[in-house]
Amino acid sequence: MAKPKVFVTRVIPEKGLALVRDFCDADIWQDELPPPHAEIVRRVRDVDSLLSLLTDKIDAEVMDAAPRLKVISNMAVGVDNVDVAAATARRLPVGNTPGVLTDATADHAFALLMSAARRIVEAEKFLRAGKWKTWSPQLLLGADFVGATLGIIGFGRIGQAVAKRAQGFDMRVIYYDPIAQPAFGASPVDLEPLLRESDFVSVHVPLTPETRHFINADTLSKMKSNAILVNTSRGPVLNQTDLYNALKSGQIFAAALDVTEPEPLPLDSPLLELDNCIIVPHIASASKHTRDMMAFMSAQNLIAGLKGEWLPNCVNPQVYKTSM
Ligand code: NAD
Repeated sequence: MAKPKVFVTRVIPEKGLALVRDFCDADIWQDELPPPHAEIVRRVRDVDSLLSLLTDKIDAEVMDAAPRLKVISNMAVGVDNVDVAAATARRLPVGNTPGVLTDATADHAFALLMSAARRIVEAEKFLRAGKWKTWSPQLLLGADFVGATLGIIGFGRIGQAVAKRAQGFDMRVIYYDPIAQPAFGASPVDLEPLLRESDFVSVHVPLTPETRHFINADTLSKMKSNAILVNTSRGPVLNQTDLYNALKSGQIFAAALDVTEPEPLPLDSPLLELDNCIIVPHIASASKHTRDMMAFMSAQNLIAGLKGEWLPNCVNPQVYKTSM
């Protein structure tokens, strides 16, 4: 019997690809850069399944171009690149990869937080520029962690893993999340007190219409002048023009971003002029084991969808209801 067909939009780790190839006739996009949208539309015409990445816009046009499509498996926990409502309307289950990237992402958020607080990137540039003349009592002074307040916006899997790490640094942790229960010594607060009291603010919400530009001139104006902002969620959760103004004017002390809007960040972005802004290229989940597990999980979701079974991790389980 012919194997079901899949379009895989990039070469993912072998741990997942091997599983996909075993079960499917796989068309795998070989370029380092993602397939253009028109190419995705072209390639899905006769496929039964699609394995996508966060760089791929999977919208109604893609779905309608693929009459045989049974499942969309996204190799990420965030699914803001997929029109989930359009998929649900077409009874297409959408899979994601929660949990396996929680620790790597929380580690990275903490690494960024510490780098910004202790000015690691700036200090390294200083040294390489030949500016290190002597040990100096006032050189590159940064922020302390013990006793400082960390405010976490979005207290889900990753937000909680960040709180767990902060416990080890004897920080006070508060969080803003309309539904999450307290954990790891963190206390729930409203958004305003979180912004007002936090020395560090770390953002871990999904990108949705409600969270787009959640961090903006208004929220930044409520933060302390010594505050350090860390964003490892999604670029559009933060208004970059407003952040630039807040960093430039000294309204907040520093920021560290794993994600930007757009990605990649254009090299003429004003944010790149600032010493108090660290920016790295969306690598929060980039550990070998984590990416292996993400690939494996997305292959499992894909295969379950092709077999007509419930996806182990499905963001729109309502597609399984008899009436919607
Ligand atoms: P999660 O669903 O476990 O947690 C998200 C939390 O945000 C939930 O508790 C939810 O109640 C809360 N939330 C939603 N809207 C909110 C709002 N308006 N205000 C306050 N809280 C709100 O998800 P997770 O696994 O912790 O991942 C969170 C996000 O992190 C993902 O959606 C993804 O976009 C991002 N992420 C980025 C990377 C990266 O490489 N930079 C890696 C993993 C995840």
